[in-house]
Amino acid sequence: MHGMKPTYDIIIIGLGGMGSAAAYHAARRGQRVLGIERHTLAHTLGSSHGRSRIIRQAYFEDPAYVPLLLRAYELWRQIEHDSGTHLLTITGGLMIGPPDSHTVAGALRSAREHGLEYELLDAAAIRRRFPALHPTEGTIALYEHQAGFLCPEASVTAHLQCAAALGAEIHAEEAVLTWEADTAGVTVTTSRGRYVAERLIITPGPWAPRLLADLGLPLVVERQTLHWFAPTGGLEPFLPDRFPIYIWETEDGTQFYGFPHQEGPPGGVKVALFRAGEPCDPDTVDRVVHPAEIAAMRAAIADRIPALNGNHLAAVVCMYTTTPDQHFIVGLHPQHPNVVIASPCSGHGFKFASVMGEILTDLAIDGTTRHPIRLFDPLRFRAQQAG
Ligand SMILES: Cc1cc2nc3c(=O)[nH]c(=O)nc-3n(C[C@H](O)[C@H](O)[C@H](O)COP(=O)(O)OP(=O)(O)OC[C@H]3O[C@@H](n4cnc5c(N)ncnc54)[C@H](O)[C@@H]3O)c2cc1C
Repeated sequence: MHGMKPTYDIIIIGLGGMGSAAAYHAARRGQRVLGIERHTLAHTLGSSHGRSRIIRQAYFEDPAYVPLLLRAYELWRQIEHDSGTHLLTITGGLMIGPPDSHTVAGALRSAREHGLEYELLDAAAIRRRFPALHPTEGTIALYEHQAGFLCPEASVTAHLQCAAALGAEIHAEEAVLTWEADTAGVTVTTSRGRYVAERLIITPGPWAPRLLADLGLPLVVERQTLHWFAPTGGLEPFLPDRFPIYIWETEDGTQFYGFPHQEGPPGGVKVALFRAGEPCDPDTVDRVVHPAEIAAMRAAIADRIPALNGNHLAAVVCMYTTTPDQHFIVGLHPQHPNVVIASPCSGHGFKFASVMGEILTDLAIDGTTRHPIRLFDPLRFRAQQAG
């Protein structure tokens, strides 16, 4: 602590999807907040860019996420209201695959356990309602009305603007080099200075393995690609009032997912392979998308969404920070009760950013939260690692 008196209640390291929401919620709770981001605000070098992120409730990953999702929806509406920005578009969503696939069976389990509204569609019904989709016989889908998409860059901006309006200090293009914590508080050293606070929230996205190296968390950072295609017959069948978000699991267990057409660049319709990435380092990751990757994307859509298999308009690279069980890491730092750590990713974290802001603020101020986060215990890998 170097004998300095804390200037801030909470310092937040990393202002991407999660850190920006934490800054907003902490400022709302009257905290003196300093948020520090190494890149520009709402940049495209981490995990929270690419114009759209799926949000859905019939969660195939685990029913334990559903209560968090219900609160996430409320808080997305709250930040939309507070910021005066449109962030969440409801389109309905399809979880498509063989009936016993993880995508379909898992979504059904969550929907039933939590009494969510859904419809089950067979292949003929899917084609009738969404003519762009060509499922094979035997493929079914769970359709949920409340699914849709969020705009990640606009969400980061909205949270940070509202945080600043509530008095949070936001520093961009300033890298945190080291942090220390003891019972008196926390000290953060950056490329520009040193700051002292009561508590720390660490939300570094793909840089988590670096900033949390002391914990030896089993995180793998993976390079992923996103693609935009121009549909061959025009955009009509892909407009958001008639085309849903979807996650499609094929017979071999591959998952791909996509969105309706969105206004603005790069135009066309976005689609991506889920969890098809290679391990990478966030500072040296290859940001060029290669022809073989475009070909792999085309192979997934060619027979299933043939109209989408037109000109390839654009692609970007994004990173997942993945745990072995694909659940998040969120909790108090095991050695420092005044430090909160969060890696809500494994490729599916963005939709939770709004409620994560609330959870991380609860943990920082109260040391606990009413939200169910047991699944995300940072210590759950210890036993396995020791064995
Ligand atoms: C291709 C792709 C598709 C996805 N699709 C979905 C989806 O459809 N639905 C969904 O819910 N989720 C999805 N996700 C996952 C979701 O986007 C992530 O879970 C989420 O963006 C993680 O947010 P974050 O705040 O942890 O990381 P980031 O947004 O990357 O934020 C971390 C920030 O910390 C900063 N930082 C790091 N180190 C330092 C330092 N030393 N000093 C200062 N600042 C630092 C970084 O610059 C960065 O801005 C997708 C992710 C990708 C990549």
